[in-house]
Order: sequence, then C-alpha cells, then structure tokens
Amino acid sequence: MNPKTDLATPFAARAVNLANSGLVVLDAAQEIVLWNGWMVPRSGYSAARVRERSLFEVFPELRGSRVEAAVLAALTEEVATTVPASTGRAPFPLRAAGSFDGERIDQAVSVTPFLEDGERYCLLEIRDVSGAVDRERRLLDHAESLRARSYVDGLTGIANRRHFDVALDRELRRAQRNGGALSLLLMDIDSFKAYNDHFGHQEGDSCLSAVAQALAGMLKRAGDVAARYGGEEFAAILPDTTLLQARVHAEAIRAHVAALAMPHAPAAVRPHVTLSIGVATFDMDRLNDAATLIEAADKALYAAKRGGRDRVVVDGDAM
Ligand code: GH3
Ligand code: MG
Ligand code: MG
Repeated sequence: MNPKTDLATPFAARAVNLANSGLVVLDAAQEIVLWNGWMVPRSGYSAARVRERSLFEVFPELRGSRVEAAVLAALTEEVATTVPASTGRAPFPLRAAGSFDGERIDQAVSVTPFLEDGERYCLLEIRDVSGAVDRERRLLDHAESLRARSYVDGLTGIANRRHFDVALDRELRRAQRNGGALSLLLMDIDSFKAYNDHFGHQEGDSCLSAVAQALAGMLKRAGDVAARYGGEEFAAILPDTTLLQARVHAEAIRAHVAALAMPHAPAAVRPHVTLSIGVATFDMDRLNDAATLIEAADKALYAAKRGGRDRVVVDGDAM
C-alpha cells in the first residue's frame, strides 16, 4: 500500500466514507487505491478486497465501456470526463444497498485526473441518479400518452379532427408530389337529432360509437384514416383511391351501417340508422388543397341529404 494514498487523517477518511456517492481512486496502473464506504454495500466488495486490484479485473464488464475510455483519457491525457446516465445498461454492477438481485442503480460517472507527488491518479465519482432517470422516464411516458390521446376522439376512440387535419395535409402533399389519387368521404348520420330526441343523448353517444367502429372496420389499408369530423359527422381519407373506387367504397360503408339495423326514431327516413355520404377526389387543377377538397365532399354530402338521405353522392354527379 502506498502510504501517500492513505487518507491523511481519520477525519478526512470519515468524511470520504460518509459521502453519498461512490468515490474510487485509481493509480496510473489502474489499480484501486481508494474505495469509499458508499461502494461497499452496493458492490458487495469491501475496500480490503479490491485494494491494489485493477478496476477492470474487479469489474471485467467495464472493458470496452465509456468508463474505460474515460479512465484511459484521464490517466494518459489528463482529460476529465463525465459519463452521463444513458438509456442502456448502467456501467457498474451496483445495486441498491442490501439487494443483490435488484435492478442496477442508474449511474452518472465523473472521472477526474490529478497528480500527487509526480504520480498520476484518477478519481471516479459514481452518483446514483435512479430517481432522476425514473422521473424522466415517467415524464416521457406521460408526454407520449398525452400526445397520443390528443389525436384520438374521446367518445369513439377513432381519430379526432386534429388527426384528420394532419393526415389530410400529409396525404395531399403526397398526392401532389406523386400525382396520385386521393379520395375523401364525408359522412353524416341521418336524422340524428330525432335519434337523440327519441332515445336520449346517452343512447345517441352509443350509436355514434357503433357507427365509428363500423366505419373503422371498413377501412382496411394502412394509409386509410377514419375520423370523427364533428358531432355526428365522420370522414374517411383514402389514399391511392380514384373517384370511381371511392364511390364503391362509400357505397359499401353505407350498406354496412344500414345492415347493422340499429333501430332509429320514428321520425327518421328509415326504421334503422343510416348514413349519407359525399365523395370527392383530389385533382391537380381544381381540388388541390384541403379546403376545396372538403368543400366539394361537403357539397356532395348536402346533395345526398337533399336527395333523400341514406345514399352516396359523388362530386360532379348532376346536382
Ligand atoms: P340530417 O339527416 O340532416 O343530418 O339531420 P340531423 O338531425 O342528423 O342533423 P342536425 O345537424 O340537425 O343534428 C345533428 C345532431 O347530432 C344534433 C346534435 O344534438 C347531435 N349530436 C352532435 N354531437 C353529438 C354527440 O356527441 N352525442 C350525441 N348523442 N349527439 C350528438
Ligand atoms: Mg350533421
Ligand atoms: Mg345528421
């Protein structure tokens, strides 16, 4: 044991052993010359067991790690480094005091070189940042779930208006780039006011959810988006779908919802719940932005209502 590296006074030794982080000093040969009290219960090694052994012999898994690179930089180039807690595995196999099968402590490690009587050493400080890492993880999870929720309609669980706007914008830009087909369906439940008046608002809500699920179930392609556009209005974005194909699709959706045979109010045009659907398709010259495309689909929807409801009208059909 090099007497120079013994703690000069019992007072200093006491303070170092009370420190609330791991303190390890290595000499130029990477051998451990100081190992404070914090390290003992967390590593399972007493100071006597590790003293004058190479750090990398005690912890072979540190070989090739950022900690080894930091130690080499300190001992050969006198460069100080901080290795922050990363999302990967923590460098030292340290666990909460007294739990040797628990999870590793998340660690931030600082490596600081120093000279003492012409000899090189480096000090490693290992801080337990598990609390901060956990908090950060929870905040990230929370932010992610808020972000996801802000694009979902609370009642029906399908995409909300905000999601619709973003998706339509994205698909329009894609269509403009590739000159591809892109169709939009706007759907509105027929005589829904009468439904609410007859069955009550809660039943109305259940009906909206059922129609939303039926609609979502009819859109099979990865790029398709079914959204709740407004109160009892829904929208479907159908990329790579021509006006002709969109009409066929809209008709299938209309028939599918009618076939659910959900009883409607006596004042409705049919004894079961039905949809009117307006269809429009992107084109470079006329319907080339969100506003005009939505307006065209909305006009077609209005024509479907005027035409008697429970039907599909396509942009350009004689109105
Ligand atoms: P039309 O066939 O012309 O579409 O007639 P309508 O009665 O469906 O049309 P209108 O726009 O007059 O009424 C829509 C109704 O939808 C009125 C509103 O109370 C109801 N509504 C809108 N949002 C909700 C909702 O979230 N839950 C329930 N239960 N009803 C809703
Ligand atoms: Mg409406
Ligand atoms: Mg309606």
